[in-house]
Amino acid sequence: MGDRVRTGIRVEGVVQGVGFRPFVYSLATSLGLGGHVGNDADGVFAEVEGSPEAVARFLTLIEQEAPPLARIERVAVTGLAVTGSADFVIAPSQADGQRRTLIAADTATCADCLRELADPADRRFRYPFINCTNCGPRYTIVRDVPYDRPLTTMSGFAMCARCAAEYHDPANRRFHAQPICCPACGPRLSLAAADGTKLPGSDPVRAAAELLCTGKIVAVKGLGGYHLSVDAGNAAAAAALRARKHREDKPFALMVPDLTAARMLCEVDETAARLLVSARRPIVLLPRLPAADEYVAPAVAPGNRQLGLMLPYTPLHHLLLSAVARPIVATSGNVSDEPIAFTDGDALERLAGIADAYLMHDRPIHIRTDDSVVRALTGGESVIRRSRGYVPDPVTVRFRFRRPVLACGAELKNTFCLAKQDRVFVSQHIGDLENAETLRSFTEGIEHFRRLFDVQPELVAHDLHPDYLSTKYAAELAGVELLGVQHHHAHIAACLADNGEAGPVIGVAFDGTGYGTDGTIWGGEFLIADLAGFERAGWLDPVAMPGGAAAIRQPWRMAAAYLAVCYPGGPPAGLAVLQRNERHWAAMLAMMAREINSPLTSSAGRLFDAVAALIGVRDSINYEGQAAIELEQLAVVSERGSYPAAVSSRDGRLRVRASDLVGAVAEELIAGVAPPVIAARFHNGVAAAIVAICTRLREQSGLTAVALSGGVFQNLLLTGRVVAGLEEAGFRVLLHSRVPCNDGGISLGQAAVAGARDLR
Ligand SMILES: [Zn+2]
Ligand SMILES: [Zn+2]
Repeated sequence: MGDRVRTGIRVEGVVQGVGFRPFVYSLATSLGLGGHVGNDADGVFAEVEGSPEAVARFLTLIEQEAPPLARIERVAVTGLAVTGSADFVIAPSQADGQRRTLIAADTATCADCLRELADPADRRFRYPFINCTNCGPRYTIVRDVPYDRPLTTMSGFAMCARCAAEYHDPANRRFHAQPICCPACGPRLSLAAADGTKLPGSDPVRAAAELLCTGKIVAVKGLGGYHLSVDAGNAAAAAALRARKHREDKPFALMVPDLTAARMLCEVDETAARLLVSARRPIVLLPRLPAADEYVAPAVAPGNRQLGLMLPYTPLHHLLLSAVARPIVATSGNVSDEPIAFTDGDALERLAGIADAYLMHDRPIHIRTDDSVVRALTGGESVIRRSRGYVPDPVTVRFRFRRPVLACGAELKNTFCLAKQDRVFVSQHIGDLENAETLRSFTEGIEHFRRLFDVQPELVAHDLHPDYLSTKYAAELAGVELLGVQHHHAHIAACLADNGEAGPVIGVAFDGTGYGTDGTIWGGEFLIADLAGFERAGWLDPVAMPGGAAAIRQPWRMAAAYLAVCYPGGPPAGLAVLQRNERHWAAMLAMMAREINSPLTSSAGRLFDAVAALIGVRDSINYEGQAAIELEQLAVVSERGSYPAAVSSRDGRLRVRASDLVGAVAEELIAGVAPPVIAARFHNGVAAAIVAICTRLREQSGLTAVALSGGVFQNLLLTGRVVAGLEEAGFRVLLHSRVPCNDGGISLGQAAVAGARDLR
């Protein structure tokens, strides 16, 4: 007995409400250790006592075999004096002190719960709210911290005796599962008609499934909001949903019963399969198979080579999908670009006229959270919309913030974040800050985050654009220091932070619009940047945007602007874009010539728009980025031809004559080259120009790493060509993975810039 040691352990990260204490309890008892484990405001603390071998084994396994939802960020170990304790106990929670522990993200139903859901002998057989320590709602039901049932939207449901017994039993897999419930004590499902009146019937799931199978539109309450669903194979239903939602072309996401069903619709490689079945359950964008036509109506994702698929992530989804037994559309419950409906009253009001019925329940959603959207990358993922299942897991960075930071994000695809120590808490996708509802999500979301993570920001970062509502919000805050961060610098800083790097790098920020330091609209930028600062080292030659924002909605205006640069004497005959828009063409030229409402822009997004219109993809758009997305879809992937663009240098700053690319497109069109080939050659030309500029900047600066950011890099064809070209030229390339390359990543970049400047 002589050789005993006692060790104190502190574990930080997502370790509460995820079954960590029962895990520690059973690990310690299985190794014959004495001591205790408990929760406090910092996370989990434990003391273990026993043989040095057993204690060492414990310390190894505590990290290796942690419960699936736990995310361990730090384990601190201290030596203690032996006290002789032989038993191991779970200590009561200590609720005082700073709120430093982390709340888990919402998590898809686990395999154990699914087994019980399907087991007629189980008391939760077919119960749509089954959950446990390893799965179920978390972030979306939390009203405040500490994460405890009374502070969640489960507070109105008193546990029955059997649930309470499970909740208090350390050996039970529902020990301290805050949303624990059963048919006797938990939330209930109901089906309501279009006018909101409850429909009678004992099985709302089966009734809803029947409605779906007969072509009806059903609103289904999920974890972070309502979906609108129809049978994906029913052309009339899908078309009706589009018409009622006022959503012309933007693809709908699909929910499929399982992986086998996903494989019938799309190419699903190993990485994609892992993402589809992951506990986060994002929408995964996947290459569509021809066979999908049999199950997916044309109106679901018109003209798209990809489909966005997700698997069921709540017990309700599992029950519904197995009853329907075919892919269903599961698109956000909203009209057009409004935020998703998440309260029952809101859903009944805003989805009236769209939904034929509502499959709803009485467990409130506290925080609106959209589905996340990702793509599979070799061995990993690239997040396009970071929301449900990901939030509020922090993005850790490789430096420590000196003061707490709030970063307000951009205008479109807004997210905000709070940062302290080495953690950045990036919010769920808020949306486009252009209506009162979204603005309220933004301001209330910031207040909620401040409470949840106990952060009082002292430094507030915002975009330079004076008219962004996020900028105006920052300007009205009292008692904080403000820091404006240039939009494209924020993009590159986000990419650096995403990769755990600090730079300096050559940053390529290609997007639609961002306010420049000179007051013009930037968007095709080459920066020499680190987290703290940047220099604008190169850009696309600016062109006019005739009509300002109207040129974003009508890409043919950008075609007119670029053609005016290419052909000052007038464009060559035979261009269809000119014929299609003949009535307004001269007015457009006059507007630019007189410099009326024609701001200059170096935007790469507008360059893609111009080419899309010129080729005949489309003259006007129904959603952001549509023309560029369709141009990418059109391109022949195997085509290797390319167009050159001249590069000029003034005072060491490089300018790309992007109009050369547009001129080449026009000439090949007139020569009768097929548009899909031209689209590919254009992509290759842009990629070649990027590689050429980076090579020149490497000669000037000695930098060999390139960070790619901005929404344009959601274009897989372009990104693939750029990465291949850069790597062939010997560059190291940084891409986004944890946060989006689009404006959803801006808040992380702003926070990183603020944190880095604060350290100087
Ligand atoms: Zn479970
Ligand atoms: Zn119960």
